[in-house]
Amino acid sequence: MVQLTCYGGINEIGGNKILLEDGNRKLLLDFGFPYKRHKLFYEEYLKPRSGAGLLDPLTMGLLPSLEGIYREDLETPDLWRAFRSSPSYRKLDHVDGILLSHAHLDHSGHISFLRNDIAVYSTVATTFIAKAIQDSGKSDFDQQVCYFNPASFDCPTGWKQTAFLSESTAKQQRQFCIADMTPNDLSANAIQFWSSGFWEKTPRQKGLASCALLSHSGCALNLRCFPVDHSIPGACAWAIETGSGWIIYSGDLRLHGKRAALTKRFVDKAAALKPRALILEGTNVQRATNVSEHDVYENALRAIANSHGLVIADFPARDIDRLLTFLQIAKDTGKKLAILPKDAYLLKTMRLLEQTVPDIAEDENIAIYQDTVASKNPSLWMRNLFQEYDGKIVLASDVSSSQGQFILCFSFFDLNELPSIHPKPGSLYLFSSSEPHDEEQEIDFRRLHNWLKHFELTSLGLPIEKNGEWQIPDEERGLHASGHACGTDLLNIAREINPGILIPVHSEQPSFYAEQLEGSGIQVTLPVIGRSIEI
Ligand SMILES: [Zn+2]
Repeated sequence: MVQLTCYGGINEIGGNKILLEDGNRKLLLDFGFPYKRHKLFYEEYLKPRSGAGLLDPLTMGLLPSLEGIYREDLETPDLWRAFRSSPSYRKLDHVDGILLSHAHLDHSGHISFLRNDIAVYSTVATTFIAKAIQDSGKSDFDQQVCYFNPASFDCPTGWKQTAFLSESTAKQQRQFCIADMTPNDLSANAIQFWSSGFWEKTPRQKGLASCALLSHSGCALNLRCFPVDHSIPGACAWAIETGSGWIIYSGDLRLHGKRAALTKRFVDKAAALKPRALILEGTNVQRATNVSEHDVYENALRAIANSHGLVIADFPARDIDRLLTFLQIAKDTGKKLAILPKDAYLLKTMRLLEQTVPDIAEDENIAIYQDTVASKNPSLWMRNLFQEYDGKIVLASDVSSSQGQFILCFSFFDLNELPSIHPKPGSLYLFSSSEPHDEEQEIDFRRLHNWLKHFELTSLGLPIEKNGEWQIPDEERGLHASGHACGTDLLNIAREINPGILIPVHSEQPSFYAEQLEGSGIQVTLPVIGRSIEI
């Protein structure tokens, strides 16, 4: 008997945490950061206390009460006594691994809490992006996916303190096993990237392993990893052979992006396995059609070619396809695309794996924007980046004096630079991102409108408030291609794979599948948090 238990991603977009148990074999399918639930209780200046370790996220329902799967250094004294009476409490003696679908934090973020001896299986691109995000981000203690500083045990009050200097608290790296290539085939630069930041050659630093790992109980796990198209490189779906047949987990996917052929191939191969169950995302079930990346290119090109002065392009972080769309537009219009250091770091990381990714040093249409105040005291990764691309750095004064020459890749959180840039009235703010309920952050659109009004910028594609909802005006649509397939495409995927059971996740309208697939022969089972589904 196989059991699937969802601990997140139910009636919410993101936060997927699914436990698959097949006898003594136990796997986690993603272990994401639950943005929606987190925002119910927390905001920028009210966060879970890092010194309280697991206590806050367990108490607030951000983590499932599964004793035995979490890092012991994050356990406060007597932690589990309070949770043992909760209905969803369980003690697990082991987990064989985490199958990670992609590097968006709503799928990967809470891996930071898991025991360090639980390996993460993923594609090489996801693995490298996860490290690039952590290296270049201000990642909080609850989003340290690839490495972490263990909390110290020697605090007299019993509460944890994070110490950075002692031997027992030195940075530890998590074991990643890559599914789509052999670690030996990685270039020397790629291997160097993976080990950068770890000074000592000790067991704390872990090289990459291949995916052929045995389970805890010694039985080989028969896994298949299928690359799919999503708004971040490296996304994949998984198939796991169990005693009840094949179980497929889609992760996040779409059929309308630049790599739609990958998703199509996945659907064909998944169908050929004649799976017993399909765990399928449903972010955009209510949408009937998609805007394609090519539509975005054409619409944004037209707007930018007709603009005068500075262009600010606001698009989702880590969406390399979108960055390349705007790079092409920069080439077509004779402008420079000024990207932030963290985007440059990600682009450089992607080029370690894929030679078709542009070389920042060689591409005359790419510049790196150096923040006016914060990067005065840059961290090591940024210092190295500025050194390596010395001739590519532009400052606010450079952009200010040649406004018509730049497409600046800023988001809401970079608007603090505008007082240094002095954008001329009528400059264009092009919003090429999703409406609210974005997986990672809910932008304060009201505040964004205030900034644009203050600097007299023209906006395009930006949601406006209508009857209490933020919506992009119809005439300004077509500047964003979603990372998720629309309802029509999702139903086609479900019908083609034709599983015995379909389990919707990552959706605010999971009942859509039950309504639409009635009579199709596919049984739709709506998961409930913490309640096992028997397959
Ligand atoms: Zn995603």
